[in-house]
Amino acid sequence: MRVAVISDIHANLPALEATAEAIGRESPDEIWCLGDLVGYGAQPNECCAWARANARECLVGNHDLGVLGTLELDDFAGDAAVAARWTRTVLAADAHAYLSALGPSGLAHGVGLYHGSPRDPVWEYVLSWEAARDAIHDSGTEVTLVGHSHIPLAIPDGDQAAGGHAPGGTEIDLAGGRWLLNPGSVGQPRDGDRDAAWLLLDLGARTADFRRTAYDVAGAQEAIHATGLPDALAERLAHGV
Ligand code: ZN
Repeated sequence: MRVAVISDIHANLPALEATAEAIGRESPDEIWCLGDLVGYGAQPNECCAWARANARECLVGNHDLGVLGTLELDDFAGDAAVAARWTRTVLAADAHAYLSALGPSGLAHGVGLYHGSPRDPVWEYVLSWEAARDAIHDSGTEVTLVGHSHIPLAIPDGDQAAGGHAPGGTEIDLAGGRWLLNPGSVGQPRDGDRDAAWLLLDLGARTADFRRTAYDVAGAQEAIHATGLPDALAERLAHGV
């Protein structure tokens, strides 16, 4: 059982298309998405349609819930709130219906899936060893998958010195321990590498391969500019921040 895990697409269609092509070359059995399909980027409907057609498991993220109106936008930072308000004006009925039916956590093939964390699936950022340890315990599964921070991570239970940021090319042997993994973000990476991040998980061989895929950043930036969304949302894509 091989799974391509993606997260935080954020309406960046060029990044999603390049990632989908790279995933296709690996012919995984399933694709799982950990939420935040929309917000920040310019093509929310196309990204929702792709996920609906291709993701076997899909979670809802805080930005999706902000766009749906389930979460108040007072809790979002400036540009995020602006983007969520704009997304509300363009979100198609079928994309709205799709996002409305998703939950922020799930369980698939014995793997715990969370947008944020088990104790707060919508908002908590798991970035420290302590938070990862708690998430692994609360999930109770051998592998715990989270998104939300846009930082690819691989953190094992029990060894405080091991694990952390997982740049592209990182290969993890998952045997003999419990792990927290974050695939990083497809549409708005924040670890200083602008390429789209994703994860290839082999549940049989118990391996996790962290991948990066270059995409048409200029195309994504042009699409953002064409909507009138804040320039900063385009600019940051060039730097992976
Ligand atoms: Zn996000």
